[in-house]
Amino acid sequence: MTSGSAAERPRGTIPRCGSPALPSSKALDLESGSAHTGSMGKRHRRATFAELVSALEQTPTTTPPPRPGLHGRELVDREGRSYAPTEDVSADRALALAAAGAGVVYDPCGCGGYCGLTWFSREEVQRMVAAGPPAIRRRRGGIREWRAQDGEVYLLVRDDVRWGDVLH
Ligand SMILES: [Zn+2]
Repeated sequence: MTSGSAAERPRGTIPRCGSPALPSSKALDLESGSAHTGSMGKRHRRATFAELVSALEQTPTTTPPPRPGLHGRELVDREGRSYAPTEDVSADRALALAAAGAGVVYDPCGCGGYCGLTWFSREEVQRMVAAGPPAIRRRRGGIREWRAQDGEVYLLVRDDVRWGDVLH
């Protein structure tokens, strides 16, 4: 479980998530394989490719149930409820929504949840509310309101926001 205390991050640096631009290890293997042209290497690569194809053929075509997290323009909470984004809110509005029962989830680097989200418990949200409005740093921080069909609200806090002793 990653819920609990706020994620640690060094001040003034942008945390990096897994870069999709990195060359894959498969490409690197092919690269080094052609450099050492041995029949052993070729046989090995062929076997790996066959395994890959068979693995693909066995992949079920059914869509798995949505998992908690950010999926484009859908936020799925830990109970499987779906939320749609509305708009960025002010610190005062965020406080009012949290006081009225909105959930709070944190995207530590503001990348859209690729590194994972930190979900806060009801008790932690109450501590935020008791601390007053959050401090949203203009440059990178932000809080967006997400709404479920039934009106439930989640506040998606991203990057540089301080809120009581929970987010600091
Ligand atoms: Zn990230």
